[in-house]
Amino acid sequence: GKVLVTGANGFVAAWVARKLLEQGYSVRGTVRSINKGKYLQNLLSSYGDRFETVIVENITKEGAFDEAVKGVDAIVHPASPVHLNINEPDDVIVPAVQGTKRLLEAALAHGNAVKRVVYTSSCAAVLEFLDTPRTFSETDWNEKSLREMEDPLQSYCVSKVLAERAAWDFVEQNKNNLSWDLVALNPPYVFGPPIQDVRSPEDLNSSMAHWFESVVKGSLVEAEGKCWIDVRDLAEAHVLAITSQEASGERIIVSKGAWIWQDFITAAHKVDAQLPAGDESYDPTSVTHMIQFDTSKATRIFGLKLRTLEESTRDMIEDFKARGWI
Ligand code: NDP
Repeated sequence: GKVLVTGANGFVAAWVARKLLEQGYSVRGTVRSINKGKYLQNLLSSYGDRFETVIVENITKEGAFDEAVKGVDAIVHPASPVHLNINEPDDVIVPAVQGTKRLLEAALAHGNAVKRVVYTSSCAAVLEFLDTPRTFSETDWNEKSLREMEDPLQSYCVSKVLAERAAWDFVEQNKNNLSWDLVALNPPYVFGPPIQDVRSPEDLNSSMAHWFESVVKGSLVEAEGKCWIDVRDLAEAHVLAITSQEASGERIIVSKGAWIWQDFITAAHKVDAQLPAGDESYDPTSVTHMIQFDTSKATRIFGLKLRTLEESTRDMIEDFKARGWI
């Protein structure tokens, strides 16, 4: 089968494309410019003509994906702005929501062979930052971000809530005319070795830039806890989400577990003693994780054995060393 992957030059999408190719799929990746396509063609050249790129310059434009969806059996949609700090709401929310709508409209009108659409949502569309610890599941939505929409710090969360909702609404409104069904994957923070076009740490995507700053540079350390998954496991989940019958119509949280930065700092320092040690008196059992996820659905449907924090850390450190960044 052939799969369309949007924003194929991104951190997550490049891994999704590679895993699909490894498993025998053909992949058509959308990118915004010729140069971004060239990098990918080169990266994935060993797969020959099973990998192709198409340019979709502006994903919010009417008809943007009309050509791209033709002849593909499935679609994976990770393309979306990922700026976790202060943003102009329109820079983040409009492309996330309109881009998703344009893609699904094209899938309905021109995706005659499409059977499944996998939307890369986020735990940002699920969790709410509260004063008490809580375990969230697929029934939860980040309503709080919508109530605090005026706050530019919320723009990313709002973009993911509204884009995922737009996808489910589209399916509901067109349910009698669709040849395909929808799956939403909700990952927390994604870390792991980057294969996208990064020439220096400054080029890293947002989540990896945070990791590099916090763990390698020893700056930007916040005490606050989050959850995470390795990018390669998330990519595997996308591949499984394309064919899994049980995944049909589901949103699925894919998370390895909770951490605070010191967990990664400790793991990295064990790999390479030159890296910052952080707080050496740190006791992981003393931490109360404010946000955790019920991952039983992903375990039931995908059954993936997820990489541990130590494995993922080791691979990132090795990758950064090979690049001469450490
Ligand atoms: P990247 O920044 O690495 O990739 C984002 C991709 O989206 C790039 O291809 C980028 O294209 C494209 N994109 C960004 N803005 C626009 C826009 N305005 N119009 C068209 N395309 C755009 O991010 P990730 O790989 O980390 O994220 C991919 C997906 O995974 C996103 O949907 C994100 O919300 C989700 N996710 C990521 C997490 C993480 O920790 N990384 C956590 C949870 C969810 P270009 O290079 O041309 O800008």
